Amino acid sequence: MAVLGSLWRAGIPGVGYWIAANAIAIMALLAFALQGHASRWLTFVAANELLAMALLLMLEGCYRFLGRRTRPWGAYAGAVAVLIGIAYWTFVSPNFNARVTVTSAFHASLYAVLAVTMRRGRPSNRPRYSYYFLAVVAALFCAGHITRCIVYGFGMVVQSSLMQATAPNIAYLVLGILAQPALSIGVVMLVHDRLAERLERLANVDELTGALSRHAFLAIGDVLLNASVRTRSPVALAIIDIDSFKAINDGHGHAVGDQVLSHFAAFIASNLRVGDVFGRLGGEEFGVLCPATTAAETVALLERIRGRLAAAAQTELPRGLRYTFSVGVDQRRWDEPLAELMARADGALHAAKASGRDRVMAA
Ligand code: GH3
Ligand code: MG
Ligand code: MG
Repeated sequence: MAVLGSLWRAGIPGVGYWIAANAIAIMALLAFALQGHASRWLTFVAANELLAMALLLMLEGCYRFLGRRTRPWGAYAGAVAVLIGIAYWTFVSPNFNARVTVTSAFHASLYAVLAVTMRRGRPSNRPRYSYYFLAVVAALFCAGHITRCIVYGFGMVVQSSLMQATAPNIAYLVLGILAQPALSIGVVMLVHDRLAERLERLANVDELTGALSRHAFLAIGDVLLNASVRTRSPVALAIIDIDSFKAINDGHGHAVGDQVLSHFAAFIASNLRVGDVFGRLGGEEFGVLCPATTAAETVALLERIRGRLAAAAQTELPRGLRYTFSVGVDQRRWDEPLAELMARADGALHAAKASGRDRVMAA
């Protein structure tokens, strides 16, 4: 709880549920410990129901964390069934094994849902570790509760109280005591992964345009160039610069300039192919790296995009505002570093500007 509490202010969905789950589990375990010393409403019915709610809230927190729109309604219905079952087998027809079986069946099914939710819920761009840790923990507790269900459900153990010091009781008490800490370690790892993702995004994505930052573009570019040497496939680079952008800023104001930048970036990105790398190199200058593509193919691609931008009705921009861009393109020569390729593409861009703008030129 203390560790989760320290993460509360990060505003990550789910954390509040997980803290509440731990608080409720503590109350549940205290209520169980009072068996024989306090009313059966507290030590049987409330204790079991609180423990069921604790697990339910862990699951609910995971749903919120993963951004699911639904709630686990089936689990809420199950919690009501547990409440009725425990009350019935405590007061109407006292039956220890039936009480254990119904609560364990509930826990086993919630753990199964949790395991599947975490296994499937991992975003494809995040490391597996924390998601799979939680899935494995949930699967193990699910297996534990299934065996408990079978052992008590088929009357393989005959006893009348959870507090008797028998081997199965001790084993299952350990299971119950370890559950919340193990799950909590898992969700703390999830929160840390989400925090890491935020920082990575801040460092790697340009806020205004959504394109890669210069730093990330160069880093990913290096990886891509190395891979292309191994696969002996060509790589082309296009450097794109918006024409007379200063005039747009001066004529319409800086805010409209920003609007043009984000319009431009969205337009380019929507016209690129999967695998192309798009980054903002600075100001109104952008880079596109095209793997497995020659310079001639890249010139043709950018020419198509240039034509589409000219033909598109630019309804998102202030009336009458149109803009163009110039491009310099070149292809990587065997094993040269990205900086040399960029210098030649930049030279081609300057030539495109010098010869009148609104055109694509190869080095
Ligand atoms: P050219 O056709 O030769 O490229 O001319 P240009 O006016 O586009 O180029 P120049 O380099 O003279 O001006 C670029 C301008 O871009 C200057 C700078 O104030 C502006 N700029 C850079 N970053 C931003 C930004 O984030 N938002 C806005 N609105 N303007 C920016
Ligand atoms: Mg410019
Ligand atoms: Mg420029």
